[in-house]
Amino acid sequence: MARKGLLLILSSPSGAGKSTLTRMLMGWDPTMRFSVSATTRAPRPGETDGREYFFRSRAEFEAMVDQGQMLEHAEVFGNFYGTPRGPVEENMRAGCDTVFDIDWQGGQQIRNSALGRDVVSVFVLPPSIAELDRRLRSRGQDSDEVIAGRMAKSRDEISHWAEYDYVLVNEDLDTTFARLKTILESERLRRDRQPGLADFVRGLNREFEAR
Ligand code: 5GP
Repeated sequence: MARKGLLLILSSPSGAGKSTLTRMLMGWDPTMRFSVSATTRAPRPGETDGREYFFRSRAEFEAMVDQGQMLEHAEVFGNFYGTPRGPVEENMRAGCDTVFDIDWQGGQQIRNSALGRDVVSVFVLPPSIAELDRRLRSRGQDSDEVIAGRMAKSRDEISHWAEYDYVLVNEDLDTTFARLKTILESERLRRDRQPGLADFVRGLNREFEAR
């Protein structure tokens, strides 16, 4: 019997390194699947529909919510974001772990859903606010006004750090990534995530008895 895939929720203020860590994780373990969210925000340069996000109109987004297709959804920076349910359930059945890059509102909703037992949640903190500001500006993608809005949202996001199972301070990317892998590998080894164990131990007992 295959292990049920777990749900790795990564949250952080924008600029703390979450997207980079997600990419590193996907490169390290190709069986992991990224949960592509739907959003009503416009694509940024370089973003492709269906890869970073499903870019949808507000009406299309609302229809998905009304039809129960969203595992969670929330408003972030004046736009709607949501996690399509179908791919997540399919990944779990297939025994593949899913990575979510979602905010605290999404994390809370999935943790409180029927899938809560399968959630492992990780919050990524920046080493300082000055560094967060620097990382946001160095992207060169957003206006000053957008950056100021993101900094305000960051403070709100950070206030939810204690709701997460694990917290990583991303001072050094390689160290943080190594710690993230440790979390994932340990969580995969939890007794209740190893469905074949009871059978395996029965086999060991049969071996004992045959001696
Ligand atoms: P961005 O617009 O910079 O890609 O994302 C803005 C914020 O929305 C990030 O904090 C990101 O984690 C969050 N986000 C992205 N997708 C989802 C989603 O499906 N649900 C929720 N609740 N938040 C999301």
